[in-house]
Amino acid sequence: MRTLILSTILLCSSQVCPASAQQSLDALISREIGLLVETYKTLHAAPELSHREEKTSAFFAAQLRASGYTVTERVGRFDRPEWVSYGVVAVMKNGDGPTVLLRTDLDALPVTEKTELPYASKIRTRNDAGLEVGVMHACGHDVHMTSMLGTARMLAALKDQWRGTVIIVGQPAEETIDGARAMVKDGFFTRFPKPDFAIALHDSPDFAAGTVGPIPGYAFASSTNIDIKIRGVGGHGSRPESAKDPIVLAAQIVLGLQTIVSRENSPLDPAVITVGSIHGGTRYNIIPDEVNLQLTVRAYKEEVRQKLLAGIERVTKGIAGAAGIPAELAPIVKVSETEITTATYNDPVLTERLTAVFVKALGQENVIKAAPVMGSEDFGYFSLDQKIPTMMFWLGAMDPLKLKQRNERGPELPTLHSPLFAPVPEPTLRTGVKAMTSAVLDLLKK
Ligand SMILES: [Zn+2]
Ligand SMILES: [Zn+2]
Repeated sequence: MRTLILSTILLCSSQVCPASAQQSLDALISREIGLLVETYKTLHAAPELSHREEKTSAFFAAQLRASGYTVTERVGRFDRPEWVSYGVVAVMKNGDGPTVLLRTDLDALPVTEKTELPYASKIRTRNDAGLEVGVMHACGHDVHMTSMLGTARMLAALKDQWRGTVIIVGQPAEETIDGARAMVKDGFFTRFPKPDFAIALHDSPDFAAGTVGPIPGYAFASSTNIDIKIRGVGGHGSRPESAKDPIVLAAQIVLGLQTIVSRENSPLDPAVITVGSIHGGTRYNIIPDEVNLQLTVRAYKEEVRQKLLAGIERVTKGIAGAAGIPAELAPIVKVSETEITTATYNDPVLTERLTAVFVKALGQENVIKAAPVMGSEDFGYFSLDQKIPTMMFWLGAMDPLKLKQRNERGPELPTLHSPLFAPVPEPTLRTGVKAMTSAVLDLLKK
């Protein structure tokens, strides 16, 4: 079984010799690609859950050090003091010029891999609840890390072609959307050179390997988790008149919440309210005294998000009041302070500039303008409330033939987070490295 011990072998060969200016980026990538695919497989076989990226971050840091970067480890501070932050920040200064931040995430998911690939993860561990789970890079953060390591090597080898500062961020805990915030909270913007631009990529099974998909404007939604405790008065199932039934009330509230997006929000402002969990009661003939709901709320604009949160509180409490729940038993609406993330807004000017760079590097046919999604990412924290122009793009990772078949007649292909998700290492990694490196070379050109 592959483990991260392989790092020593990879380290020895990861020092790219300085390239002459004539050497094309393509030739450099071709020289490194075998090693990068090996690195990818190594990372894929050894995934670690969010908040536990100890070996992954050490491996990532060591590789960057070997490529000539000044590396700081364990950057970040989580709300729960028992969680170590395995954030990595690697800096390469190369004279005066702007600063570009490149970010990858480090964590994997509690998913048992079913791809049967030779480098499939066989890792099992216990999650925070003590349950045994399989662990898999089912979101492709191993693709991101490897693309970033390749880019780091290219930029080290091509130092004569750029000037300024490159910061490579290995962010922990993206899947739990608290890693970026933890790094910002730990003084990221004061301890390291302040970026003028921030870029990231995410692999996608909806795009063919070899392509990229830039998204202008809002790309990912903000995400806010909410717990609602609906309180009633319990009693015998045969005597509803002497109880206040929180189950019927919960049903009314779930339906009432649906009208916030459909009737109170402008159809031109995307928004989602999903009740993802509802729990109450123990037996046929008992009216319980409590029902608990879990909601996720998605929006692009902050003012829309605020309106949704206020609407959820008002509708929930209003329906409870109408059902005769006394004020002292009003529902408790708790907005999570940890399971939240801002929207990811791709600066239109930067996106246009880098789209042109991608077209030049990869060819027009391999650059596909992508639509925004209501999924969430915590990369937006690195924009410092949209004060730093940021850009996140999709990196195609699917076998083009399978994609063509799916588009023509199905069946659906495994999505991100599926136990069958299997990005094609080549040319996905080559494209990731080329797109990222070309972007930096343009932003920091002499
Ligand atoms: Zn994910
Ligand atoms: Zn992801």
